[in-house]
Amino acid sequence: MTSIKDLSLHDLEQQFALLGEPAYRARQVAAWLYKKNVSDFAEMTNLGKQLRDKLSQQWFISNPVIVREQTAQDKTRKFALRFDDGVVVECVIIVDEKRRTLCISTQAGCKRKCVLCATGKMGFKRNLTQAEILDQIIVANRVLAPKEHITHLVFMGMGEPFDNFDTVLAALRIIHADHGMCVSPGRTTISTVGVLEGIERLGKEGQGEGLAISLHASDDETRKKLIPHARSVSIDQIIQAAAVYARVTGDKVTFEYVMIKGVNCFPADGKRLAKLLSQLPSKINLIPCNQVADSPYRMPGQAEIDAFMKELYDSPVIVTVRKSKGRDIMAACGQLAGSVPPV
Ligand code: SAH
Repeated sequence: MTSIKDLSLHDLEQQFALLGEPAYRARQVAAWLYKKNVSDFAEMTNLGKQLRDKLSQQWFISNPVIVREQTAQDKTRKFALRFDDGVVVECVIIVDEKRRTLCISTQAGCKRKCVLCATGKMGFKRNLTQAEILDQIIVANRVLAPKEHITHLVFMGMGEPFDNFDTVLAALRIIHADHGMCVSPGRTTISTVGVLEGIERLGKEGQGEGLAISLHASDDETRKKLIPHARSVSIDQIIQAAAVYARVTGDKVTFEYVMIKGVNCFPADGKRLAKLLSQLPSKINLIPCNQVADSPYRMPGQAEIDAFMKELYDSPVIVTVRKSKGRDIMAACGQLAGSVPPV
């Protein structure tokens, strides 16, 4: 049996038509699943008992188990969720004034093996399904206080979203839909290691979601040391693909840049970045390197950061610095590894 959350809203309407039910029933079911976050057909009280029985004969409602929940000093909450086959992934709620941002995973593990990232070090288990991507948002909405809900989404958890493109795209349709989760494309950001086909496809098939690209170096040699994928894709190719995305969506593209001591934040890097990013509407989001087990990479000292940032501040590039949250519970960027104590 498949989880009913693996169906698109269109599929759901068709299935209801086959059952001889009016189309609005599909919207009612979607509201139970994605707005009221129920986990049992029996809770769908505006559907007759017969219909509920028919639904439960065809589908189940997936419902991952929270195997670990941790809260950081800054109120960031990390959840480890276990799916039916035992696979565990993590997602993180970041609280910032009225914003409730959920950082979600698209894969259990990752194939990309970036040397600075804990997920890259754990290897790849499998792609998540549409239901499993949506379930992370559902679980987060359930654990928030009654009148709160997830307002923003970042696809910056475990995995490379463009290595699971079709499923991510299908999940996005439900995430943005009025009768789905109602989180608009403008409040949704997808982060990629720089998969060119994915950037191009999102430009054509997406709905104007924010695009973030993990750059992390200002020259190809340094980038190749950090990101194996850089051996086959140059920074210039990434800039070109990003420029097309910016043109198609009319939005700035964000470049993420982890600042690593002695590796990628010399003043010369700042100069090169300023030049590279002047080619397209963009901004750069600087992330102080977070500590990861078995990794030699560290955050630079303040003097190194200042000298590097001065080059950027002296240029027209828009610079933001990410407040990495949840470090004390290993919930910050690059720290998700889905390790939980045995149950
Ligand atoms: N695969 C996608 C999604 C992961 S997003 C991508 O590569 O963009 C997670 C972000 O955290 C990426 O920008 C990643 O490069 C960054 N990151 C990885 N390790 C980190 C670390 N040790 N400190 C800070 N950021 C890190």
